[in-house]
Amino acid sequence: MIMTISKTGANPILLWFRKDLRLDDNHALQAAATSGRPVIPIYIREPEEDGSGPLGGAQEWWLHHSLAALQLALGTLNSRLTLRQGDALAVLDKLIAETGAGAIVWNRRYDPAGIAADTQIKKALRDNGIEAESFAGQLLHEPMRLRTGGGSHYKTYTPFWRAFEQSGEPPFPIEAPETLPAPSHWPKSDTLDAWSLLPTKPNWATAFPQMWTPGEAAAQEKLRDFIDGAVDGYAVERDFPDKPATSLLSPHLALGEISPARIWHATRGLPDNIAKDNVVRFRKELVWREFCYHQLFHFPKLRTENWNDRYDGFPWLPDAELLRRWQRGQTGYPIVDAGMRQLWRHGWMHNRVRMITASFLIKDLLIDWRDGEAWFRDTLVDADPAANTANWQWVAGSGADASPFFRIFNPVLQGEKFDPDGGYVRTFVPELADLDRKYIHRPFEAPDDVLKGAGIELGKHYPRPIIDHAMARRCALAAHASLKDDG
Ligand code: FAD
Repeated sequence: MIMTISKTGANPILLWFRKDLRLDDNHALQAAATSGRPVIPIYIREPEEDGSGPLGGAQEWWLHHSLAALQLALGTLNSRLTLRQGDALAVLDKLIAETGAGAIVWNRRYDPAGIAADTQIKKALRDNGIEAESFAGQLLHEPMRLRTGGGSHYKTYTPFWRAFEQSGEPPFPIEAPETLPAPSHWPKSDTLDAWSLLPTKPNWATAFPQMWTPGEAAAQEKLRDFIDGAVDGYAVERDFPDKPATSLLSPHLALGEISPARIWHATRGLPDNIAKDNVVRFRKELVWREFCYHQLFHFPKLRTENWNDRYDGFPWLPDAELLRRWQRGQTGYPIVDAGMRQLWRHGWMHNRVRMITASFLIKDLLIDWRDGEAWFRDTLVDADPAANTANWQWVAGSGADASPFFRIFNPVLQGEKFDPDGGYVRTFVPELADLDRKYIHRPFEAPDDVLKGAGIELGKHYPRPIIDHAMARRCALAAHASLKDDG
């Protein structure tokens, strides 16, 4: 049911942007715009941003630019964005007192702390006579909507996907309003620069702008590019990190610069020459995102606890030096190092390589998946409380519908299969750029003259493997065998 805001009051409405930094397909914005009341758009930098802790460094970079883009976009509607920081309810109370606002609208979030905070805020505001309404918009279907025949939530993806398919088309996206009524006085706003979201000493984000343009307009353009190009071939090519075959929409989705409904409906009615497999495969990935939120919603401890408690006694081997080598892309396995360096350079990593690097940390190094999740959360521009944790648990074997633990990626074979020419490795591990294709994923097996010809001295220019994969695999299986059975 679409909630509405009363149109009788003349006092302003606060429009609270959170992870929905867009004008398009924004139901809270629509409700405010059609109320006929003055609208005051606000963004609050909360101490616990998404409820799972403050945003990571890479996503703060994105947030800075995204808010700047939203400010400009609101300007075209003769409106502006008021920035404040602090505890959300305290900030809202203050803004209500300053502006005389009588109503507030927002789009819902689904992380556990976000839900708890919003429930409390809505009640407190309503108790004080303020209208408070929330709307859907972060997902295609809200996580409470799809239920199994027995009324419970889904624990495996395939039935979830089937239920999704049978639940009808997700709602059609709505257009952005053309104008927003302004209040007679604008409240004071923090300046974006005062929030110091951008890294300075050192500025580790120098290469981000080569790859990314945050903001709604860029998100829409990226969607158009994908629909006009890479979607044709997506089903096969999406696994090859050297090919521009995926949509690159994840960071835009993470801060809500584009809605999943806008993306979903853009894949309808494509020309017949685009094989249907491509569209289905792409939609299935969007629904994986939904499934991750479904898991987080129904198992709020997903970030800190194993979905499958059989893994609670897993004998991890914490090792700060090995963790650091993995983080820096200095493991001696080129595909792992290329992935970790892509992450550091661009704040993003290809999905196939995320799986390989995560498997390497968990199963070769026996380091707790939570350490990997934390590193990704800090370094990914698309860090997402549901997708990150659910995928780490998927690789670890502890998650819902997880990859079986014994599926241990061999980093050499994975590299040879998915980066056969080594183009991806050569881009992100330039010290191996001149190495023969035959050895690009196994430099430690290259004869001395081949290494010499490529200008590489192992241990000096590029590390020897920090662990022997075959031995590590045996240790991982033994560690897994020590867990008590599911019963
Ligand atoms: P496309 O292939 O174009 O897919 C379209 C969209 O579908 C993506 O933007 C994303 O929203 C969704 N999607 C695709 N694959 C997945 C998936 N496996 N799980 C959930 N949603 C998916 N994705 C995040 O958005 N944030 C994260 O923090 C995150 N952490 C990950 C951690 C690990 C260990 C792994 C293995 C995967 C993680 N993913 C995460 C999923 C996936 O790697 C990215 O969504 C994808 O690489 C984004 O690139 P794209 O937009 O080009 O994807």
